[in-house]
Amino acid sequence: MLKVNEELCIGCGICEENCPFGAITIEDGCAVIGESCTLCGSCVESCEVEALSLDVEKEAKTDIADWKGVQVFCEFRGGELATVSLELLGIGRTLADKRGVQLSAVLIGHETGNVADELIGYGADIVYRTDHEALADFTDERYCAVLASVIKEYKPEIVLAGATAIGRSFIPGVATVLNAGLTADCTRLEIRDEDGALLQTRPAFGGNIMATIVCESSRPQMSTVRPKVMKALEFDGSRKGEIIDIDPAPSLLESRVKVLETVASQGAEVNIQEADILVSGGRGLESEKGFELIRKLADTMGAKVSASRAVVDAGWIPYPHQVGQTGKTVAPKLYIACGISGAVQHVAGMQSTETIVAINRDKNASIFDIADYGIVGDLFEVIPKLIKRIEERR
Ligand SMILES: Cc1cc2nc3c(=O)[nH]c(=O)nc-3n(C[C@H](O)[C@H](O)[C@H](O)COP(=O)(O)OP(=O)(O)OC[C@H]3O[C@@H](n4cnc5c(N)ncnc54)[C@H](O)[C@@H]3O)c2cc1C
Ligand code: SF4
Ligand code: SF4
Repeated sequence: MLKVNEELCIGCGICEENCPFGAITIEDGCAVIGESCTLCGSCVESCEVEALSLDVEKEAKTDIADWKGVQVFCEFRGGELATVSLELLGIGRTLADKRGVQLSAVLIGHETGNVADELIGYGADIVYRTDHEALADFTDERYCAVLASVIKEYKPEIVLAGATAIGRSFIPGVATVLNAGLTADCTRLEIRDEDGALLQTRPAFGGNIMATIVCESSRPQMSTVRPKVMKALEFDGSRKGEIIDIDPAPSLLESRVKVLETVASQGAEVNIQEADILVSGGRGLESEKGFELIRKLADTMGAKVSASRAVVDAGWIPYPHQVGQTGKTVAPKLYIACGISGAVQHVAGMQSTETIVAINRDKNASIFDIADYGIVGDLFEVIPKLIKRIEERR
């Protein structure tokens, strides 16, 4: 809670200017805190006479010790488990072992079959399963209420979820219900040796720096991670674990939303994240027509086509093909970057690729810093030769 010491406050208004949420007003010569205060703490240091104090740390820290374990929300939809859930179980296992605690999975949906056993094979010690027909279709309200109630009951210190369309939609709501900190789109997760806190690293300021965020004063520590950033463990059918079925209370299933129909988006057909080989085009293609060459190379290799944001913004190819910080994260076996400069925001989405080949006529292009093989040359000359070679080999 933010407190104003009325005896010290001189009504100077500095805190009012410093509050990013417009939560402070000066009334009768004294600061008054409004309801929009988020307890961010910005104003406290700005007050030169130390009239402001924030008690949030003391309040929240009291029950931190009650929270134990690592928990992964496992996304199940359309009869399938999202692969990001298995990747999160992989990193979740590492974090849980480092903390010496259990790794649990939360499975919400309907007709989940033997998915809970699968989750155990991929690293979970416990699966909390809520299988109910009201949860067959995803709705923010129900999923948020059910997941929040599982977290409140079992008190994991860390909660991980995929930064997918579903995760992005309802996980912030869960964090709000729990009054917990949430770091979105993490690219690295580690345990701090000194106190076991979760170090959540993610790109910040347009991808120009990596910021490490720590939630010291509240639990759970919540993070979302994009698909293909972490690695799943090998499936081990001999692993043993516990499955706990949870019947949701009727109040948790109330919803103002009724799903009438589900329509697959165009993006679902262009799943560049599952491709083994990607041929990716950038502004060096010069126009939409340049993608004909990229498609030809992709067809020759049995690859899919991806792109940089510059060409998506130019309307040469639709957004589902975009790789990068504001596009998709991919980790194919082979990524051929054609006429892409290698901006940090692009590289953020493809640096986990096994082998990167870059074709660029500028020998100083930064894409060559991360490429395993670099071809300096005009892509309109190089790619036809490449296609010819591949066809000859066949
Ligand atoms: C907040 C933010 C988020 C962003 N998110 C993304 C993202 O998700 N994904 C993304 O890709 N970008 C993203 N960007 C944009 C990013 O900064 C770059 O502007 C973009 O990646 C550049 O695309 P490009 O490499 O295709 O084009 P350019 O940077 O213009 O590079 C074109 C390259 O083609 C080469 N070239 C030109 N002609 C030829 C030729 N004939 N043969 C061979 N090579 C040739 C040039 O030498 C050059 O290196 C983001 C930017 C911001 C600020
Ligand atoms: S900065 Fe300090 S002294 Fe000035 S109005 Fe705010 S609380 Fe009062
Ligand atoms: S704690 Fe943050 S939100 Fe609250 S009054 Fe101070 S600056 Fe504004």
